[in-house]
Amino acid sequence: MEVGKNQTPSDSNNVRWESSADTMTEQPLNEPVLGYSPGSPERNSIIQEIDRQMSETIEIPCIINGEEVYTGHTIPQVIPHNHGHILANVHLAGREEMESACSAAVDAQRSWIEIGLEERCKIFEKCADLLAGDWRMRVNASTMLNQSKTVFQAEIDSACELIDFWRFNCHYARGFHDDFQPLVSPEGVVNSTDIRPLEGFVLSITPFNFTSIAANLPSAPAIVGCTSVWKPSRNSYYSNYYLMKLMMEAGLPPGVINFLPGSGAEITEVALSNPNFAGLHFTGSTATFQGLWQEIGLALPKLNSYPRIVGETGGKDFVVAHPDCDRRGLVVALLRGAFEYQGQKCSAASRAYIPRSVWEGISDELSDEIGKIAMGDARDFTNFMTAVIDKRAFDKISGYIQRATERDSCEVFCGGGCDDTVGYFIEPTIILTEDPNSESMIEEIFGPVLTVYVYEDDEFDAILRVCDEASPYALTGSIFSTNEENIQRAFEALRFTAGNFYINDKPTGAVVAQQPFGGARASGTNDKAGGPLNLLRWISPRSVKRTLRPPHDWTYPFMQQE
Ligand code: NAD
Repeated sequence: MEVGKNQTPSDSNNVRWESSADTMTEQPLNEPVLGYSPGSPERNSIIQEIDRQMSETIEIPCIINGEEVYTGHTIPQVIPHNHGHILANVHLAGREEMESACSAAVDAQRSWIEIGLEERCKIFEKCADLLAGDWRMRVNASTMLNQSKTVFQAEIDSACELIDFWRFNCHYARGFHDDFQPLVSPEGVVNSTDIRPLEGFVLSITPFNFTSIAANLPSAPAIVGCTSVWKPSRNSYYSNYYLMKLMMEAGLPPGVINFLPGSGAEITEVALSNPNFAGLHFTGSTATFQGLWQEIGLALPKLNSYPRIVGETGGKDFVVAHPDCDRRGLVVALLRGAFEYQGQKCSAASRAYIPRSVWEGISDELSDEIGKIAMGDARDFTNFMTAVIDKRAFDKISGYIQRATERDSCEVFCGGGCDDTVGYFIEPTIILTEDPNSESMIEEIFGPVLTVYVYEDDEFDAILRVCDEASPYALTGSIFSTNEENIQRAFEALRFTAGNFYINDKPTGAVVAQQPFGGARASGTNDKAGGPLNLLRWISPRSVKRTLRPPHDWTYPFMQQE
């Protein structure tokens, strides 16, 4: 389309932008979650696929410019709930592969921009269709084995959330072209906005705990025309590799996303020494993100542009209960919110403020229910929990529990057992504390540990202030109350305490296009993954003014003689 004129793309005059009127599609729906109940076809398929994946050990290469690169420098990828079992040998990238990946991403960008938004969307919508169909069991089984998720946790993450990320991001990206056109074009002028991507490549550094996030971080910028170097977590190479293969099968051109297992510190150093580094798309811990931000700051003089920095990081997610709360609802929210996926969700409930009357009413019930939780192999569907991700996490989490047993102000109310003989198993644990600033009440543990502080029933307003000020994080949180006025008090007092706020629900389980996800303060840049606000970070618009009749007289009326 000629810039600023209402013509079709075929009328192009070298400069063109696509309008959503050319490409508008229907709003996607969230991918339905399969149930995996006994006898269901999906249950049989996933068991077969788990057994198939466990029967082989694969080699995982780097993928640079569409080519598989086997470096020979390998590390094993094991199953966290059965760490003697090797799923894959992963070929790690060295400096040379890292430099090639950055160059491949830079070289691929021009043609990736030129194929246009619609073609790019078609590729990612094909990815979504493949994942909803033939690839679903492969990707879910790999997530269950690689990251020790139950079938339900794998289904809502690696299938449904990622399908939603891909479909909704394409839908949002199409909308930009109309949403950001200038409001005014005076007589004789046509104004327009060219939605360009950032110039250069985006470094995507991804966490272990969500397969969906891992694939979304390089692909969200790619939808709007950026290319990417993707550095997956060392604890999710296996499931992430399956997704890289899926994207290639869907037609992702070489170099658009380069899959680079290896040292994060080294990849960052190489990426920042390339002047075309245009952005960081990160999800992981707060400490890692803060270090990366500082390194980017130091690299600025060598870079062609000011990089965009998007990071979603840690949380210390809370549940505040009011004396008038629904007690059974609270028990279920605490149990699911704190212990699903072994508490390894950035949104996991890890501190609770409970009034004394409520605690006295629910503590036995909570401990009874937790006693019913089965923990073990992800292939055994009766298990609600499996293992934590690796030895480092096991040691860190068990350290928090151990220190709690040694503190006068703390007591391990239930759980506390840890065993890493076969897998990295930690029992669902509740620590009771008399100190609202004790370490497990304010630091991110990232494991199945919930710390409870019991407050006096008439101190609700004071406890809202404590909740707001106790921890540097501000990711998710819940208020439980049956009274609208009390809910409103919490809503206002905790305005900046959570980027995702829940009323009478657990603080986990955000769904794409329903609760866009992200937090502020130490929890990140709050760019809301899976929503239009995130995609906007990867574009750098060009404003275009077309003058239909250029002036032929350089003088102005004010210059005339009276
Ligand atoms: P992590 O910070 O250990 O690792 C994240 C990624 O950073 C990995 O790929 C890792 O290899 C890389 N990395 C580590 N050190 C690096 C360095 N010095 N330079 C460059 N890269 C480096 O985090 P994790 O254990 O994989 O994930 C858990 C963390 O992620 C938790 O803190 C959790 O709260 C957070 N998280 C946040 C969200 C969110 O949306 N806010 C979502 C998922 C996870």
